[in-house]
Amino acid sequence: MFQGFIFNNFRVKIILIDCLFSNVFNTFKRKTMVTTTAFNPYNGKELKTYKNHTQKEVSDIIDKADKRFYSWRETSFVERKKLMLAAALELKKNTREYAETMTREMGKPISQAIAEVEKCAWVCEYYAENAERQLQNEVIKTDAFKSYVSYEPMGVVLAVMPWNYPFWQVFRFAAPALMAGNIGILKHASNVFGSALNIEKVFKRAGFPENCFTALLVGSEVVKEIIENEKVKAVTLTGSGPAGSSVASIAGENIKKTVLELGGNNALVVFKDCEMDKTMETCVQARFQNTGQSCIAGKRLIIDESISEEFVEKMLLKIRELKSGDPMDDETFVGTLAREDLAKDLEKQVQASVKAGAKIAIGGKRQGAYFEPTVLTNVTKNMIVFKEETFGPVLSVTTFKTMEEAIELSNDSKFGLGVSVFTKNIEEAEKLAFQFDEGAVFINELVKSDPRLPFGGIKQSGYGRELSEHGIREFMNRKTVFINK
Ligand code: NAP
Repeated sequence: MFQGFIFNNFRVKIILIDCLFSNVFNTFKRKTMVTTTAFNPYNGKELKTYKNHTQKEVSDIIDKADKRFYSWRETSFVERKKLMLAAALELKKNTREYAETMTREMGKPISQAIAEVEKCAWVCEYYAENAERQLQNEVIKTDAFKSYVSYEPMGVVLAVMPWNYPFWQVFRFAAPALMAGNIGILKHASNVFGSALNIEKVFKRAGFPENCFTALLVGSEVVKEIIENEKVKAVTLTGSGPAGSSVASIAGENIKKTVLELGGNNALVVFKDCEMDKTMETCVQARFQNTGQSCIAGKRLIIDESISEEFVEKMLLKIRELKSGDPMDDETFVGTLAREDLAKDLEKQVQASVKAGAKIAIGGKRQGAYFEPTVLTNVTKNMIVFKEETFGPVLSVTTFKTMEEAIELSNDSKFGLGVSVFTKNIEEAEKLAFQFDEGAVFINELVKSDPRLPFGGIKQSGYGRELSEHGIREFMNRKTVFINK
């Protein structure tokens, strides 16, 4: 059970006041765009009110960023590496400070926030060590005396980012971008401006020159004018489909490159010859970590009918052990959702599916921004929890009889970010990999991002890749150089 204090009457009142404040805040944001107020979703308390950047301030920041680009691109990989390693060190030194801000702003359990900051240090180190090699000229034999492709930075890149991994989403863009000689400007989600400023602080403390990386404190309504600014050369967005579509349209009108990392509705495909206990634990992690608010979470358990009952029964025991409560408590595994309205949306998806015939095996209730870890069985492909992305701790269970049916169910999604397949028959699973319409297939593992591997989706999950050498090359001009004597 949830052990937070929003159960007693006094705190419920606070949560309701939070709702009211949130509405006022939204009105501010939409109509005046003057300030943005952050609230702690766990207790409804106001954290801070930020003064949004004005139109003139945004334009000045872009001018300075553009000016910085011309000196930054001249710096050597050795110099950039030194600074990026200093950023990694800064993240390792002040992990807790950065983690706590995330937890306060969006309810992520503190242990998971700490792990997130540590992962950011890893991506900084990875690109510090590998960027030079990844961006080497590629010599191509032709009839020329010499011909090759050189990778050259584009300039100022806008990153529009979500709140679910407030540090990781930004660092996986910023580390390669800066190592490549690009400049980053960040429009972070409006509920995590504190984390946005902290990221700016990491690069400042590491010694990066002014204006290499700047957080813009603005609402989404300002994104259009930023993209239209001729000094902004490209945009990357991680977020929802509608946001991605809007940003890509504006960028398209302005002939600017985009990378989109959007939603996902990953399946966990479990065959009857799987290693049951291990698979079950991996599935619980895949669905419930980060309180289920992850694009790559395994949201749809698609399992062989012959083992589903036993598997689900055992899994429920594991889920009961997950500790819900104060996200600031080191022991908490399931925190609140990032905002109460998100928990309400999830509740509606669950209720609609139950009405359509799904059964609640565990959970299903909401208290303020908290939503119980929930498992729905008897889910069919026409139900909302199967068709739509559920951005919270809700796992749907659908059974299959044949391998073909399993693949068909998994592919029956407008998204294509990733899939996990569980079986002892590795050879067969590897053969199956190409039949999944996904950006990634993980066998006997949850889908996860790793600096060394490309990350991204197909279909409505977006396009382009982050991480690895594929990610660092997204915002580069691949210049063809042809030399004859
Ligand atoms: P969101 O509403 O799309 O917000 C993401 C960012 O886009 C925020 O900075 C937001 O600013 C901005 N934004 C929203 N509407 C916009 C518009 N019309 N034009 C320009 N910018 C706009 O998404 P979210 O609810 O924060 O995040 C959840 C979604 O992100 C889920 O669908 C999830 O799957 C996806 N996601 C994908 C990945 C991935 O790697 N594929 C990773 C994480 C999350 P404001 O906050 O100011 O509105």
